[in-house]
Amino acid sequence: MNTEFILKAAEAVNAAILSHESEIESLDRELGDGDHFINMKRGGGAIVGMRGELAELAPDAVLNKIGMKLLSTIGGASGPLIASFFMAMAKTVKEKGAETLPEIAAAFAAGVEAIQSRGKADVGEKTMLDVLIPVSRAFSRLAGEGADRSAVLAELKREAEQGMWSTRDMIATKGRAAFLGERAIGHIDPGAKTSQVIIATVCDLALAEA
Ligand code: ADP
Ligand code: MG
Repeated sequence: MNTEFILKAAEAVNAAILSHESEIESLDRELGDGDHFINMKRGGGAIVGMRGELAELAPDAVLNKIGMKLLSTIGGASGPLIASFFMAMAKTVKEKGAETLPEIAAAFAAGVEAIQSRGKADVGEKTMLDVLIPVSRAFSRLAGEGADRSAVLAELKREAEQGMWSTRDMIATKGRAAFLGERAIGHIDPGAKTSQVIIATVCDLALAEA
């Protein structure tokens, strides 16, 4: 994973979020306060705008700067969570590198663990973690088994999709949707939806380069 890939991924993710505006917005209107799309759009726009500043930096420094920028731009509950993902990922990339699939999987896992410890949530609570945790587990397992890169990427997309759908019939126990009790049933969690869109976009980009 190099800086050029991270910057291309940022552009692609920003475009993908913009293209899912109505879906993401309506999900957070059902389950939250309706600002999740705006929050993500603000974060994505800020990162794309940093391109010049990031292009000459090493991947770990890029990830850390992205985290710090997202902390100050996204806001809401999701801002500090997503920021912590990038900062933890940066730390692991700095210490262990991000050349091989197992190294990238380890950095991703560190990012997901940071979200878990900051948000005090786990699988089954109807949040972004219902996508991120299964994806991270599959990534570590497949990378450890030495699976083929394209097969890993395709499987991660599938896990993300499955995780996103799994939130539909859950009651939320974290975040604003927890106030809704059973009324949350039937709606996909907005953070799970954006996580799925982001993972699918990054995997597609990596598949195109494979
Ligand atoms: P807010 O809830 O402050 O309006 P957003 O609308 O931007 O912030 O983000 C809402 C999303 O944040 C939810 O859909 C959920 O996926 C995620 N989320 C909320 N609380 C937590 C938590 N404790 N752990 C993980 N994710 C969470
Ligand atoms: Mg919201």
